Amino acid sequence: MSKRDYYDVLGVTKDVDSSSLKSAYRKLAMQFHPDKNPGDKNAEKNFKEVSEAYEVLSNDEKRQAYDTYGHDAFAQGGAGGGGFSDGFSGFGSFSDIFEDFFGDMGGRGNQRREQRGQDLKYEIDIDIREAYTGIKKEISFDTLIRCDGCSGSGSEKGSGLKDCGACGGSGRTRASQGFFTVERTCSACGGAGQVITDPCSSCNGEGRRRKNRKIEVNIPAGVEDGSRIRLSGEGAVGPNGSSPGDLYLFVSMLDHPIFDRDGIQIYCNVPISVVEASLGGEVDVPTVSGGKVKVKIPAGSQNGDQFKLNGKGMPTIRSTSFGDMVITINVEIPKNLSDNQKRLLKEFNEELSQKNNPESTGFFTKVKDFWDGLT
Ligand SMILES: [Zn+2]
Ligand SMILES: [Zn+2]
Repeated sequence: MSKRDYYDVLGVTKDVDSSSLKSAYRKLAMQFHPDKNPGDKNAEKNFKEVSEAYEVLSNDEKRQAYDTYGHDAFAQGGAGGGGFSDGFSGFGSFSDIFEDFFGDMGGRGNQRREQRGQDLKYEIDIDIREAYTGIKKEISFDTLIRCDGCSGSGSEKGSGLKDCGACGGSGRTRASQGFFTVERTCSACGGAGQVITDPCSSCNGEGRRRKNRKIEVNIPAGVEDGSRIRLSGEGAVGPNGSSPGDLYLFVSMLDHPIFDRDGIQIYCNVPISVVEASLGGEVDVPTVSGGKVKVKIPAGSQNGDQFKLNGKGMPTIRSTSFGDMVITINVEIPKNLSDNQKRLLKEFNEELSQKNNPESTGFFTKVKDFWDGLT
């Protein structure tokens, strides 16, 4: 496969000057950048082609060699004589290149990059009653707050700013990286171009200090396990008086001894005796609201039978509606029987007929049919 002409690849003429060459390259590099075209092999190929062309044409020596010998100038073994066979290594990562582009486009010099404060995470445990009613809770956490000594500026009173020594006030530093000269935001001044002459003594010029803060947070009714609540601006203050991050509350639901929860639905197991299940009756069922409901148990209720209590579940978050409560009957078989109880049960058993146990009667009939069918 023959290689495309480097000038064609970049869409420029042979007499292109270095700044037009650079902008042509940037435009194409952005267009074909792998981050913008994930998984696109064609874009990746184009990106490499464009990068290679620029690498050669942006270097005076290489460009001259290319103009004279064409691609042969760089072929392994140097067919055209005096070849450059060093390949194309000196690239930083894609993101390096990209970041520098954006930095440039944003203008250079004294533009200060917004350094927002850190977001914080706070884990909060809520029991089911708190989730039912919603609650205000006081929480305390370690954070960074604005320094009172300098009101966040980082400067001692009356002192000012001077040009940063590391970048000479431009906010950018230059370094060569392969064939490129790469410009970066100055790390000494964070791109501001200026540093504090006399740093505040209480915060060492940071403009902020550590503190344990206490705040009251509102947990809305109906909050669920795993909910995340964002408190805008309640995170750590950024350096030199920049805006604070956010505070995120991560809600965990504590287990409850009586109630289980699934979203707005509440589940509760209610144990009843064999006699209650057989004869029927009424049981007091607790509700998550703190009240109770009398539930009629029909005669002949079975283990696992469920009853639904409409509207007795959890509130729907930011709404006035409620879920339901489902109670499940748990028939308890009596244990530790006395001799007299055993005698009564045996007597009772003799009184039983097929219609008292339709399930087992039906089951054993089916078993008999199954065995009969085998012969
Ligand atoms: Zn200070
Ligand atoms: Zn600097």
